[in-house]
Amino acid sequence: MEKTFDLVVIGGGSGGVRAARMAAGFGARVALVEEFRYGGTCVIRGCVPKKLLVFASRFADTFDIAPSFGWQVDARFDWPTLIANKDREIDRLEKIYGTLLEAAGVTAIKDRATITGPNTVRLDSGDELHAEHILVATGGTPFTPAIEGAELGISSNEAFHLEQLPKSILIEGGGYIAVEFATIFAGLGSEVTLIYRRDKILRGFDMDVRDCVEDGLHQRGVRFRYGYHTAKLAKQDDGKVCVSFSNGEEAPFDAVMFATGRHPNTKGLGLENAGVECDQTGAIVVDEYSRSSCPSIHAVGDVTGRAALTPVAIREGAAFAQTVFHHTPTTVPYDLIPTAVFSEPEVGTVGLSEEDAASRYRSIDVYVARFRPMQNTLSDRPEKMMLKLITETASGRVLGCHIAGPGAGEMIQLVAIPMGMGATKADFDRTVAVHPTAAEELVTLKAPSYCIIDGEKKTA
Ligand code: NDP
Repeated sequence: MEKTFDLVVIGGGSGGVRAARMAAGFGARVALVEEFRYGGTCVIRGCVPKKLLVFASRFADTFDIAPSFGWQVDARFDWPTLIANKDREIDRLEKIYGTLLEAAGVTAIKDRATITGPNTVRLDSGDELHAEHILVATGGTPFTPAIEGAELGISSNEAFHLEQLPKSILIEGGGYIAVEFATIFAGLGSEVTLIYRRDKILRGFDMDVRDCVEDGLHQRGVRFRYGYHTAKLAKQDDGKVCVSFSNGEEAPFDAVMFATGRHPNTKGLGLENAGVECDQTGAIVVDEYSRSSCPSIHAVGDVTGRAALTPVAIREGAAFAQTVFHHTPTTVPYDLIPTAVFSEPEVGTVGLSEEDAASRYRSIDVYVARFRPMQNTLSDRPEKMMLKLITETASGRVLGCHIAGPGAGEMIQLVAIPMGMGATKADFDRTVAVHPTAAEELVTLKAPSYCIIDGEKKTA
């Protein structure tokens, strides 16, 4: 094997693979070292398998409203079938990643890499690779609170491989992963309890979105324990996990899942051998071109602790390749990143929350539409869809858009385009509606529901 490269990439996830392929396309000799499977968190134990499980869990709602459309359904769910089919799809995608690297001329190596200097990487097999540039794209890893018995709990990594669907599960955390897995397990029939140390899930999201998701999960039977946390886990004789809470209560669960955040995967990488600076969370500190404190070493994706989202890692990987191997300095814009939470209701959001917009602008207008999604109107399901536009009063510019309901993720991708172009409410109003859709509400919102001037809410 060739031992000298222009670029050695450590980590075969979304960011690393994109950077490796693009750099090779620009003529660089590239090696990519991955110790586990190509595809990284997104493909192997994140976005892709999660979305497949979300699809599975949504059949519950479809079966629930089916009789109102004249269908009689006798449905039974089999977890092992879902997991086996999901695994087959992940295997297929992983192979595609390997094929893409090969087709790009990247030397793909299955091994563990340790940085031994600014331009050298040692493999566990004993080989040493020399590189003009090293790119660290090792992603993140689940963080578990240091409590007694924590090893009896699982993270999202293991949730994808449970042998059986747990009859009852406690999920700790209030972020994306906690909310999405609460949705999945509740939809598939588990009794779900979500414990979050603060007073409402999805901190940082627009408050109406947080309320909608909390209501939606409530309606699906999820129980909330707010304001305290798990303190100790112990195995019971019947195989269940007994959870002691910090408020003194105890309760047994078939499974306990920690969704308490993810930390950058930098331990044991040898970064200190090249003088690469990390922050207190272990994230590699980089400049706007993803360059670390060691000029020959760059880092992209979750390992840098910027926005931990697949499309961002891909953009960072591409920008790195453009900058270093195509002489085109390229940065990634971090404002107006659209994002979705695959909960029930689904969330799509871009731009400022109402709370943030009101604190940054003297006067904002808020337009809110709430209605029952059309597919529920023949049944007695009560849940409402919510669409919200926030504009700056003076300019009419759209500052934020927040959607909770069916198709929110698909809608927000498209709303992000005009918002990135600086669209105003008048631009939305000029657009002809597509009828009958939920998205048409975004272009038919008439008067503001209310304004916020100098922090004070006023009816418009
Ligand atoms: P988040 O950072 O979103 O949420 C972590 C949660 O754990 C927070 O509610 C946090 O509480 C809580 N927490 C942290 N430490 C402790 C502790 N010691 N004890 C109790 N609770 C604790 O992380 P996730 O793991 O949900 O997701 C990781 C990242 O992955 C996300 O930030 C997101 O970028 C990405 N992701 C994106 C998805 C998507 O795009 N749909 C889906 C899944 C993940 P507090 O609020 O108090 O800090």
